[in-house]
Amino acid sequence: VLEIDALCDILEDQLGLDPTRPDISRALAMLVDESSNSKHCDYDHFVRMMVDASNPIQRALTGKIAIPDFVDFCKEVVRIFHDVKKITDGELCNYIPELQKTSQDSFSVALCTIDGQQFAFGDTKHEFAMQGCVAPFLYLAALEEYGIAAVHKMIGREPSGGSFDAVRLNAYDKPHNPMVNTGAITLCSMLHPEMDAADRFGWMASFLQDIGGGKNCRVGFNQPVYLSEKESGDQNFALAYYMKGKGVFGSQGGNLEQFVDLYFQLCATSVTCSSLASMAATLASGGRCPLSGKQKLKTVHVKNCLSGMYSCGMFDYSGAWAFNVGLPAKSGVSGALMIIVPNLMGLVVYSPRLNRYGHSVRGIEFCKRLSKKFSLSVFDQIVAGTSRMSKSKEHTPSAKNTTT
Ligand code: GLN
Repeated sequence: VLEIDALCDILEDQLGLDPTRPDISRALAMLVDESSNSKHCDYDHFVRMMVDASNPIQRALTGKIAIPDFVDFCKEVVRIFHDVKKITDGELCNYIPELQKTSQDSFSVALCTIDGQQFAFGDTKHEFAMQGCVAPFLYLAALEEYGIAAVHKMIGREPSGGSFDAVRLNAYDKPHNPMVNTGAITLCSMLHPEMDAADRFGWMASFLQDIGGGKNCRVGFNQPVYLSEKESGDQNFALAYYMKGKGVFGSQGGNLEQFVDLYFQLCATSVTCSSLASMAATLASGGRCPLSGKQKLKTVHVKNCLSGMYSCGMFDYSGAWAFNVGLPAKSGVSGALMIIVPNLMGLVVYSPRLNRYGHSVRGIEFCKRLSKKFSLSVFDQIVAGTSRMSKSKEHTPSAKNTTT
């Protein structure tokens, strides 16, 4: 006989899987031998149930899972975490007073694979404002609601070459891309203008939570950060007035205060490292949420979003980032850094000390080291001798450590 509790422990401790997840708990319930004690499973019955290749427990136990050697992989994540923790360079965001109150040394990392394997380390309970990390989701929300053509009638797709808050539009007087502030504010102008303010924010908050797997995904609101940014938000108001003058919001100009207000609210959406990592995992798996098993976003929209994150997500550091890490990413001035490893996982690093581009110093260093160690760059496959861990689910080599 097999102890169901022992099986749950293996799934949780060795593979990072939550046994209470709907598909896994259903598979566990099917294992239980009803004639006997509900905590046990008869061996023959277990073997019969494990024939089904779509059974999530079967997949997990036979290595057909994003990161089969999950314990070893997490150990490496922790090792890099401790190395990077020694770095104390950088400054807290200096133009949003409330962010100046953040504990400088707070540091956490979380990841969620496309099969829902989860791991978090450091100050994992700490909640932080998403800030710029909300932009990709805002872009996805607009794509889902209004379609690609409508969105890109308003916003371009090229890197701006400037900082995230540069007062700059492209040659057609449109925001360069959805990732910089001009683009994100314009997305706020598109998103459900027919709703009142509370419903509009509520709509977006539940959109985020849904992408992250539902009610277990922590999505809150940081009122002090919102008020603080609003009070000191001259640069973003300047961007909005500039865009209104250039006709970005249409000939009527629209309700500029409303657009900027929604932008500040969304930047103040608060998350934990883990809740943001589960949203990131849905992007890594092409819009299918690994925790709920539901297809939440159109794959083509996710592809567009990742392309935009790859070329523009790190603003005027996007080129060096592509060289050094080679993955779609988005950063926020709260110190959050979200990266997507397509077909493998979403990962978030949080540490509030920023470099001159507004990116978390430890976040950048952590990602550089992790990408190098596991050959995660989208171009690493052309480098002789490197192969990314678990290229496909059918082919399951153990995590290959390339230290060159
Ligand atoms: N709320 C921030 C701002 O507008 C967002 C920018 C960011 O996080 N990169 O300045």
